[in-house]
Amino acid sequence: QISPADRMTGLPAQFFAGLVRKANAQAAKGRDVINLGQGNPDQPTPPHIVAALQEAAPNPMYHRYPPFSGYPFLKQAVAQRYKEDYGVELDPEKEVAILFGGKTGLIEISQCLLNPGDICLVPDPGYPDYWSGVALAGGKMEYMPLTADNAFLPDYSAVSPDIADKAKLMFINYPNNPTGATAGPEFYKQTVEFAAKHGIVVASDFAYGAIGFDGKQPVSFLQTPGAKEVGVEFYTLSKTYNMAGWRVGFALGNPEIISLINLIQDHYYCSLFGGIQAAAAAALTGPQQCVTDLAAAYESRRNALFGAMGEIGWKASKPSGSFFCWLPVPKGYTSSSFSDLVLEKADVVLAPGVGFGTHGENYVRLGLLAPEERLQEAIRRIGKLGLFE
Ligand code: PLP
Repeated sequence: QISPADRMTGLPAQFFAGLVRKANAQAAKGRDVINLGQGNPDQPTPPHIVAALQEAAPNPMYHRYPPFSGYPFLKQAVAQRYKEDYGVELDPEKEVAILFGGKTGLIEISQCLLNPGDICLVPDPGYPDYWSGVALAGGKMEYMPLTADNAFLPDYSAVSPDIADKAKLMFINYPNNPTGATAGPEFYKQTVEFAAKHGIVVASDFAYGAIGFDGKQPVSFLQTPGAKEVGVEFYTLSKTYNMAGWRVGFALGNPEIISLINLIQDHYYCSLFGGIQAAAAAALTGPQQCVTDLAAAYESRRNALFGAMGEIGWKASKPSGSFFCWLPVPKGYTSSSFSDLVLEKADVVLAPGVGFGTHGENYVRLGLLAPEERLQEAIRRIGKLGLFE
């Protein structure tokens, strides 16, 4: 009889693992399943990045242990990208940590900063990994509702001053998963003020920083005056360069937090394979047209999807960034009953909103992660269920 540690009892099963199982079971029945439930980019990594790995992999230097906090050339490459894209200056050695995808850092920051019982403010709905990190650290979550009425931004004036004073950490995420909302400089300014006033560390998750629509480039939290004093930003190559399988991400900003993250990483990982670091640097320093093209492709998928939704009478607001659409479920359904029905009767996988928090109960999340014709086909199939008239 194995007796797990107490810290494991608060850890829920990974949300997407269940979704993948359901989708696979439907496909195993021989059905043509359109999976728009997971956030897994469907396009390949640009060839010049793959070529950089092929070139680097035979180098014996990379076959040995890499430097604990990663190769300086990669830290310099990401600092250079932030300077060019956002005008943000970062000291590559003190203000950059290399991560195994953004995910590891998002979990580690809770372990770095929270003692058991410490409060962390998390968005609801929000990316479930924030909760996992807080649960592993034994922290306590206080939810900040994200509602359509407030453009899916947290309302800091609704956080009780007592909770705010006790909170040690907070997560924000724009462009947002799951709502597709984006945030502007005014929101980030309020965030820095709120964090500084209450002594809260800000973890800004910028996983979808490259994907903004309608001519608007997403804003980085680090562009805000004072941001580096109160927090860090998590940035990843997974979505920007279709590199989700490569597992490369970064924490950027406050040097004390970066040094804590590096310390914890030294114990867990001793950094990524050097060949991957070389390819990641090639992604960051090479031609950036692939990034512009990627955002444009998601925008045209979004437009095709909303065209098809208009035809079946499914009303929703369009996302302004990320590759997710946050769609209200028809009357009489919950997020789970609707996504189960759609999988069973239309062979379309949508993520039930409740998986992202209680404020997701009336929504499903659809990922723009299939070609336009497949997205339109998914909506046509859902339309045949006759739920939106
Ligand atoms: N943050 C958000 C909001 C995400 O949706 C994801 C991935 O889906 C991540 C972070 C983590 O990305 P990765 O670990 O691949 O860098």
